Amino acid sequence: MFKASCHCNAVQIEVAELPTKVTECNCSICRRYGALWSYYSRDQVNLLADPDALSFYSWGDRTIEFWHCRHCGCLTHYESTDKQAQSRFALNSRMLPLDVTAALPIRHFDGADSWKYLD
Ligand SMILES: [Zn+2]
Repeated sequence: MFKASCHCNAVQIEVAELPTKVTECNCSICRRYGALWSYYSRDQVNLLADPDALSFYSWGDRTIEFWHCRHCGCLTHYESTDKQAQSRFALNSRMLPLDVTAALPIRHFDGADSWKYLD
């Protein structure tokens, strides 16, 4: 079991498997957040946080929620609003330990335009 956490530890996310790569996306929100995404399904993660510790941002068609810690502000994950077991849960891999994140290859996704990986 591996644990990701926000800076103040109020939000912790456990995963059984570490990602083998992460995705950096240049869409309007991801480029501002500077997140490095790794993708799981919702039933593959264990989100440990007091509900009061989390808040999300959503806009447009409101199908995705970008969650952050209300105490330290770290963006921890995004997930779809339907919250099915198989729904995507994207972990911001910058919440993993530094040595883990630093070792992961980064794929560049063109979310701003073509919606394709650029590598
Ligand atoms: Zn925090």
